[in-house]
Amino acid sequence: MIGSPDIGGFPIELQSSTDCSKPASNRRPSFSDSKMKKSPQSGSQSIKNLRKVLDEIDVNKDGWKEKIIDFVYDEFSVQNEERNMCETRETTSKMFYFGNGSDSESGPSTPTQESCPSLLDIAPTQDRTIDDLTKDLKEERPLRDGDFLRLLNRGVIKSRELEEKVKEKERAVAIRREFVAPKLLNNLPYKGYNYDMVMNSCCENVIGFMPIPMGTAGPLKINCRNVFVPMATTEGALIASTNRGCSAIFKAGGVTSRVFDDKMTRAPVVQMRCLDDCLKLKSWISIEENFQKIKKEFDQTSRFANLLKIETTIDGSILFIKFFAKTGDAMGMNMVSKGCSSAMKYLKDQFPEMKVLSLSGNLCVDKKAAAINWIQGRGKSVAAECSFSDKLVSSIFRTTPRDLVEAANAKLNVGSSRAGTLGGQNCHAANIVAAIFLATGQDAAQVVSSSMCSTKIEVDDKDGDLKVSCTMPVMEVGTVGGGTILGPQRDCLKMLECEGPNETSPGANAARLAEVICGAVLAGEISLLASLTTDELVDSHMKLNRSRMNLYSSPSSLMVPNTQSKDQRNPPIPTSPNQIRQKRNSESMRPGCANIL
Ligand code: ADP
Repeated sequence: MIGSPDIGGFPIELQSSTDCSKPASNRRPSFSDSKMKKSPQSGSQSIKNLRKVLDEIDVNKDGWKEKIIDFVYDEFSVQNEERNMCETRETTSKMFYFGNGSDSESGPSTPTQESCPSLLDIAPTQDRTIDDLTKDLKEERPLRDGDFLRLLNRGVIKSRELEEKVKEKERAVAIRREFVAPKLLNNLPYKGYNYDMVMNSCCENVIGFMPIPMGTAGPLKINCRNVFVPMATTEGALIASTNRGCSAIFKAGGVTSRVFDDKMTRAPVVQMRCLDDCLKLKSWISIEENFQKIKKEFDQTSRFANLLKIETTIDGSILFIKFFAKTGDAMGMNMVSKGCSSAMKYLKDQFPEMKVLSLSGNLCVDKKAAAINWIQGRGKSVAAECSFSDKLVSSIFRTTPRDLVEAANAKLNVGSSRAGTLGGQNCHAANIVAAIFLATGQDAAQVVSSSMCSTKIEVDDKDGDLKVSCTMPVMEVGTVGGGTILGPQRDCLKMLECEGPNETSPGANAARLAEVICGAVLAGEISLLASLTTDELVDSHMKLNRSRMNLYSSPSSLMVPNTQSKDQRNPPIPTSPNQIRQKRNSESMRPGCANIL
């Protein structure tokens, strides 16, 4: 944890990792700190002032200690402002000035970094005690940024209350950045973002937004339409590889992708008195007439919620009641939870002895790898297929259908089953799913289940064509709600022609998104498998997935005299398979060169 400032103007030492017993915000510089000692002139004046304050203080009244502390702090902040004007900053020291300087300590500089310092009016208002500022805040009088920081550090306001207290969202974000990481977030942008869309829907305690490089693969010819697929990733070679797959698909006439099932699930768990009571509840729910009553309660919570069925699972005297529902274009977790909550209240009226242990009993299953999802499906269940002629396979992938089938069998069937993967019969579906999820505002945590994929590769007996299919039974996506409401994410959904709600056919936009993702996964699968059979993977990753910039200086390399020649220190990066083999023989490869295996 980094030492955080207490008031404007104090130099705060970085708190070392071994000194974390005390929260940084509680640390105050002591009088003995030589860096803060006053000059003789101002010191004697301060002592006079201090005497005056002490004379006036009534120790029998609450808050007398705070008054002294505030006085001392105000004195120091004046002093530090003066000093900031005259002193040159010591950039080599690990000291962060929480002063009014606009330059910053940004650590090792990266060649392309954009500075995003929080330019704050950091000095607190002079002659105002914490009590004064608290009163000002209560009476909604204007406060300076430094005043808000003082109030935060003294615990008068909480970080999460900043937007409400400051009123301007961007200013609240700037103050929070300075509070949690003073002078540190020089490369994390925060200006010019539409925070109205974020608050109360996407993120709390906001300190900015994370830029991730965005690229596209395509055109992907899918269901007779061409789209460029937006992908947010920091993994070099991923988009290039997917693009190659898209190119092959285009030449092959396109990929067919279809959603074949659609249901979001939530499974509350309830406690009954005994097994027999559990059985009674189970059989009551299974009666069609009762199901319709529950459905009425469930469906009335949203015009898009449509309860399809309920499954129950007994475990001793507890019962899991699993709801399956259609949710239109929403991914549906909020919608189904709301529906369940209403349905459970109705059930409780019928069975007062029933105790709802948890609205989610983990049999749903959300955001955990689970066989039950792989078997039953969750969200959209989608499959895509495409056939490639052997000519196409050799011209684009420089391999043969037979080699691909052989590799697929060994890797996707034997390898994945030996490893005990769950829905892992694929090369790297998660790579494509994650990149599109980030670009289109999906729930990133659902990559864990949404990337379960069975990739099948066969040679067609009739014509010798290569038949590739990807089946993904757990694609949890939506085009309304969650992160899909944010501007940049909406733009990406527009690229895929599935932004927002589908007014005429609710659910059709979310289904299209699922189909595009599955089609793009197929492009990524065939391309990666091909590069594995031809040993091109390492080659392409050396070129596209390994930065040559020296961002981090290694302390050991600075200390130990280097006797190697320049060529030995910086050997040329191998670019051909032959060079790579030579390098492998001479030394072990550094990790991180092939992330998409
Ligand atoms: P989720 O359940 O995916 O978390 P929410 O339920 O929070 O999403 O948000 C979906 C919102 O969008 C609901 O308020 C719903 O009424 C609204 N909505 C508008 N059009 C549609 C549509 N076509 N399909 C689903 N929801 C829609």
